[in-house]
Amino acid sequence: MHPSPETLPADERDAPLRVLRETFGYEAFRGRQREVIDAVTGGRHALALMPTGGGKSLCYQIPALLRNGTAVVVSPLIALMRDQVEALRHYGVRAAYLNSAMDPRDRRECERALAAGELDLLYVAPERLLTDALLATLERIPLALFAIDEAHCVSQWGHDFRPEYMQLGQLAERFPHTPMVALTATADARTRSEILQRLLPAGAETFVASFDRPNIRYRVRLKERARQQLFEFIQDAHPGESGIVYCMTRRATEEVAAWLSERGVRAVPYHAGLSGETREFNQERFLREDGLIVVATVAFGMGIDKPDVRFVVHMDLPKSLEAYYQETGRAGRDGLPSDALLLYGSQDVYRVRAMLESSEADLRHKHAERQRLEALLGFCEQTGCRRQGLLAWFDEAHPGACGNCDNCLEPPETWDATEPARMVLSCIYRTGQRFGANHVIDVLLGSSADRIRRLGHDQLSTYGIGREYPRSVWQSIVRQLLAQGFIRPDPEGHGGLCLAEECRSLLRGERQLVLRRDTRSSRKKRARTGDGASAQIDPADRDDWEALRACRREIADAEGVPPYVVFHDATLLAMLQVRPATLEEMASVSGVGRHKLERYGEAFLRVFNG
Ligand code: ADP
Ligand code: ZN
Repeated sequence: MHPSPETLPADERDAPLRVLRETFGYEAFRGRQREVIDAVTGGRHALALMPTGGGKSLCYQIPALLRNGTAVVVSPLIALMRDQVEALRHYGVRAAYLNSAMDPRDRRECERALAAGELDLLYVAPERLLTDALLATLERIPLALFAIDEAHCVSQWGHDFRPEYMQLGQLAERFPHTPMVALTATADARTRSEILQRLLPAGAETFVASFDRPNIRYRVRLKERARQQLFEFIQDAHPGESGIVYCMTRRATEEVAAWLSERGVRAVPYHAGLSGETREFNQERFLREDGLIVVATVAFGMGIDKPDVRFVVHMDLPKSLEAYYQETGRAGRDGLPSDALLLYGSQDVYRVRAMLESSEADLRHKHAERQRLEALLGFCEQTGCRRQGLLAWFDEAHPGACGNCDNCLEPPETWDATEPARMVLSCIYRTGQRFGANHVIDVLLGSSADRIRRLGHDQLSTYGIGREYPRSVWQSIVRQLLAQGFIRPDPEGHGGLCLAEECRSLLRGERQLVLRRDTRSSRKKRARTGDGASAQIDPADRDDWEALRACRREIADAEGVPPYVVFHDATLLAMLQVRPATLEEMASVSGVGRHKLERYGEAFLRVFNG
């Protein structure tokens, strides 16, 4: 363990801390940043596994500034490269990028600056790095380090595989004396060992940070009227803030975006079926405008480095808990409170179960797939701390009671549903294991529908035995029975329900079944979800907050960069607390480094001092 940042002397000898404070304007290192920085600055190789928003960039940017020569950063995301370089220049760091999308004049200038040793950092796409010309240049100049971002792209197993990443292994042979650091937010053991094997020289140290994202509040809600729920959630908790809404289908993204727009919520769709131009345009707007919402399929997100995404909503179940973690992880990179809301209903469970029934993959794959989907359903239905459940899937122990998930904030009621569950099972059995949930519930409720009579189901012993509970309770029971695998969709895919092996013990009365009591959303409850960044602001400070944001927007527009490149929300919030009256006081605000102080200090001071 390294000493805690507070105990470190802030004097000249502590070079990393000095750079952190003077250049980047931050007070202390987070998590394992310091250890990675020390290893790389000391010339060693490292693998850093940190969650999104964990602060991976500083792990190579600070060594880049401390070591002699240029640091070469390999990044697969061209759009992101430009923004990162822009952000670094705003810190007064000499950074540039090379990729295939840039114009030849800029490229020649960059190559000149590189050869002249004028760059602290060079960002480059992997295929460009591996050209003979560039490698030859790099052999002639002093190199501070190689940083390989999104290092999981080397894993053929994951879904972000990039063949060029396989070639990056040759760097270690060609530049044996240059330290290398690989970084990723994908933590599973297999990806980790692939990175170590394929990218890094022997002897690299591995640093694993906690994958907890404490500022993200996880919520799973019963899907009732999904769009209305989404709209009210945005209105109540995140008015005027940026967010991502994930839908399963392309059509849904367009419909939801249009529906929101009609109601005065600015939203644009994003999916792989839109033209490249439209996609780029919408993504660009999302990065640059304050408070725009993107309604997207999972095609959106990789390479979105926007720090102030305040919420991520899933209108449908994600593919897996890994996907859920990655997608929700795009919220709150800046560390400010953010929401993750998942809407989930019987249809989602049915769909997942039906997928499991029909999966034709080979057995081993099927087993893994089954576990994955079971975990996902388990997460949705669980009554304990969601954070604990989520992290457990990544083999990280969390004590629970996080205080920042729906189950911790409003502990769900549970009830002994053994008897009614047995009624459902026996009704499914007696109706021949061919009918869907609605029909089974109709029989239990003693419906007088023609269909029931025609089929003779009004003669069954289970007819009308369930009048004690309303339909919604039966729906809840059926959903949970399905989620827990006591019942399953019929294998022919006709929409019917059958009994699963697991239900025997329940039918025999050998076990008890405790279920979650579903709650319907009510306006009163919703009002309490308001937790966005702007909700943190004292009403008395609201005008100043808006003035700070306006000041930032003006500068950003003039410079043609996204507002967060000027200052993050977290920095504006800190300013609001400090209320600096002098440049010196402004310098003490977290996120205000030397360069930004010179550039913007006066403008922001005027907000407070007229
Ligand atoms: P990652 O690449 O791991 O997703 P970033 O490097 O983009 O994360 O950092 C996430 C955010 O946290 C950025 O806004 C960054 O400026 C901020 N940050 C990183 N390290 C610190 C720190 N030690 N103190 C305060 N803010 C930090
Ligand atoms: Zn919790």
